[in-house]
Amino acid sequence: MDYGTFFFANIASVIVFTVCLSLLAWYNRRVPGISWFAGGLIVGLAKLILQGLEGKVAAGLSGMSANELYLVSFMMQFMGLRWFVVRKPMRSRWPFIAIGLVLAVYTAMFLLKIPYCGNVINIPFVVVCGVSAWILLKYGRGPFAAVSRVSAAILCAEMCVAAYRAVLTNLSYIRPWETVHAQTDPRWLFSLAAMAFLATCMVMCDLWFLVTELQRELAEQARTDPLTGAMNRRAMEEAALREMARSIRHGHPLCTIMIDIDHFKRLNDARGHAAGDRALQELVCLAQSLLRSQDFFARMGGEEFTILLPDTPASAGILTAERVRLAIEALEVPYETGPIKFTVSAGVAQLDPANGSWEGMLRSADAAMYEAKEQGRNSVAAQLPKATDSGVI
Ligand code: GH3
Ligand code: MG
Ligand code: MG
Repeated sequence: MDYGTFFFANIASVIVFTVCLSLLAWYNRRVPGISWFAGGLIVGLAKLILQGLEGKVAAGLSGMSANELYLVSFMMQFMGLRWFVVRKPMRSRWPFIAIGLVLAVYTAMFLLKIPYCGNVINIPFVVVCGVSAWILLKYGRGPFAAVSRVSAAILCAEMCVAAYRAVLTNLSYIRPWETVHAQTDPRWLFSLAAMAFLATCMVMCDLWFLVTELQRELAEQARTDPLTGAMNRRAMEEAALREMARSIRHGHPLCTIMIDIDHFKRLNDARGHAAGDRALQELVCLAQSLLRSQDFFARMGGEEFTILLPDTPASAGILTAERVRLAIEALEVPYETGPIKFTVSAGVAQLDPANGSWEGMLRSADAAMYEAKEQGRNSVAAQLPKATDSGVI
């Protein structure tokens, strides 16, 4: 393999990858991780172009700037990987300050022709690869576990090749501003080809990250009510089946509350559908703020909601339902045409471990809710397991 053929094949594939990933990043702008990947590839392409100009432009531009851009492109790749697995903005500015310092020191040493200046850029490069792999192994969980592990393995391989090239630089290329004969050095050439191959594998992983993210978003949408952001009926059913199995296994009580807005049709007719929607959204916000983190809250359809309370007997469920009812009674939803006020009726039921099913528990909570409606609305009623009587609060 001669350097010219390798270089042409490499730059052609990097151009294709860069265009594809940039288009994907543009059409999926809400996923910042893929934008970082595309940015990293664009910077990497600029590095290749400068590298191709070796001998035609000053060594400062082709050698020094190309090395600097390579480090920047890996830092951008790190930011993309971090976004996918950590999902929180980076609080510390130190990594950026450190990279800025590295670039400044390397530029100064290169221009002042200080031997071994390659270490200043090669060692941080190895570190960035290592930290990227570490962050993937530490935080790559759930749907991102597989792609994170594969990417971490590729990054570890890149780290090893980069470390080998750092050693090679110290052995043979301690003065990078001089005409470099690396293109005829098989050790240099094959390690460069290995880096290009691993970079191609990383592009495939970038795509894998994007596909995983889109799948995750779709799965979340299928479980979420679009108007209020609460869980939908399907998600509640899944949670209920899980919690019922847990409750029966551990012998803990499980309780559910059915909530229905009173005279919601009248509210819609009097204030308009948009006002009704606003009331639904505010109800969800308020009710969720009153629940524990382990409780589940779902919109079952229309103006009906269900709360699932793990490790909770009906007596505590009744208190929770009463708390929610009172909070909604006191709620005034600000609206253009004046504040919106409404009330709810709630029915409480507890799982009967002997012959209980989710549908059965839901039916009991529904029956209790209708009892509360019959009692004059804005109230809570309960259907307790057979041993006790049902009652209206
Ligand atoms: P009750 O006190 O007996 O529960 O009376 P209600 O009027 O609340 O019950 P009904 O079942 O008669 O009416 C429910 C209304 O909920 C009718 C429907 O237009 C409205 N609704 C269902 N989904 C939505 C929605 O997403 N947004 C709005 N604004 N209204 C909705
Ligand atoms: Mg209603
Ligand atoms: Mg209803």
